[in-house]
Amino acid sequence: KIRILICTTGCRALGAWEVYKTFQAEIEMQSLKDRVEVVDTGCQGLCTRAPVVTVEPMGVFYGRVTESDVHEIVSRTVLKEEIIERLCCTEDGKRVPYRKDISFYKKQKKIVLRNCGVIDPKKISEYILRNGYVALEKVLSGMSPDKVIEEVKASGLRGRGGAGFPTGKKWESAKNAVGDEKYVICNGDEGDPGAFMDRAVLEGDPHSVIEGMLICGYAIGSGKGIIYVREEYPIAVEHVKIAIGDARSLGLLGENILGSGFHFDIEVKMGAGAFVCGEETALIASIEGERGMPRPRPPFPAVSGLWGKPTNINNVETLANIPVIILEGAKYFSAIGTESSKGTKIFALAGSVNNTGLVEVPMGTTLRELVFEIGGGIPRRRQFKAAQMGGPSGGCVPEQYLDTPIDYESVKEVGAIMGSGGLIIMDETTSMVEIARYFMEFCQNESCGKCTPCRVGTKRMLEILTRIANGEGEREDIGLLEELAEATRTSSLCGLGQTSANPVVSTLQYFKNEYEENIAKKA
Ligand code: SF4
Repeated sequence: KIRILICTTGCRALGAWEVYKTFQAEIEMQSLKDRVEVVDTGCQGLCTRAPVVTVEPMGVFYGRVTESDVHEIVSRTVLKEEIIERLCCTEDGKRVPYRKDISFYKKQKKIVLRNCGVIDPKKISEYILRNGYVALEKVLSGMSPDKVIEEVKASGLRGRGGAGFPTGKKWESAKNAVGDEKYVICNGDEGDPGAFMDRAVLEGDPHSVIEGMLICGYAIGSGKGIIYVREEYPIAVEHVKIAIGDARSLGLLGENILGSGFHFDIEVKMGAGAFVCGEETALIASIEGERGMPRPRPPFPAVSGLWGKPTNINNVETLANIPVIILEGAKYFSAIGTESSKGTKIFALAGSVNNTGLVEVPMGTTLRELVFEIGGGIPRRRQFKAAQMGGPSGGCVPEQYLDTPIDYESVKEVGAIMGSGGLIIMDETTSMVEIARYFMEFCQNESCGKCTPCRVGTKRMLEILTRIANGEGEREDIGLLEELAEATRTSSLCGLGQTSANPVVSTLQYFKNEYEENIAKKA
């Protein structure tokens, strides 16, 4: 069958739902239902061309499709395999009709996004057709919990939420912890400005996360999973709930899964969208019905987490890797990436770059490849200035480090962090003081207020940054900023406060002249 794939998640904001409905009506009108299937998918990646449509099996990729294009696509491309040039991507002045030839897709490697934009995420049958739940079957039919943990450890998978802690070790701690009940929590509380990796996975392939949670539950000895997702992600919540219901009805969740005696079920908890709830202990407090505020560690959640029970928390992207690791083996996975950072990483590429969207690349890909090959460079012939990596906890990487391979350690060495995958590109017109001010304002708004260094430190730093940005700064302001940054880093309770000054520190490191020029304006 010919499949017309339409992203109706991210592209919905630009009319994709109407395009999808029009395709359905057109196929009906032309009596093509036996030959052609219209599929509403999750994100296909190249968001800058939204709404996007791919016609399979030809692999023709069209962007900025409107309802008025539908009749022509069906009559020409679907029925006659003709290319409609005006809907194709353009590279070096030439039209590129096939998705496999588009630079944005060529350098990507899709493990986590293997099904995203390809299947209808609301149909469990489509996930199963693409090897879905085979990893679970493999685990339940012949792997001991220890063997599963060994495999995850051997794969080298590290947490994709930002900290990069080895996933297998985390599972091992939760397995070894003593408790009559244990929990598996999927952290879907993505909140970095510009980041939408987890949302895209939950919207476009929720079963991969559910399968990852099931395998984790089996490995650590847990019967209960919770997906914590922010309420601002209504499509993700809807798709996850449908997926849980379908998995239950096929006996993949609940009692005696696949006749193995293993029982595990999942519920969805919606967060109100506080950035700090991405922090594990704040997330636990939120699920328990308390205000989402971090708690001192230790005890760590692996020992005493939700309701005081051993709890394993992994981020969405981390969990979606698990079925592939089990199915293809640790060797396959660990062969991808660098010595210390295995596998792939998803980035939400945004800002001043031609191809904005969702990309998945092997660890070790350079920033230059990401920005200039996959991202297609900087628009309007402007110069690249910096890449903000890691969101409010991250830093700005300047041009001289464009050849830095992206892995946990290298990125840290140049003053940023991998973070969860927000990547905002800035050109020569961007004021770096303004960028630091923007991220500080974000942290100040999101500070939960529990501890003084963060509550007051972010407020004072924001005041200083605002006056420097407005050309009202004093000479001693830079020293004050550095002092406050250090105090906030060393004495805040949780990661939000400890890293809130990172954008200030990195912009001061590489773009101090801009601070000085702004201050000189007053004089
Ligand atoms: Fe709350 Fe900030 Fe303290 Fe974290 S560092 S507990 S966000 S006040």
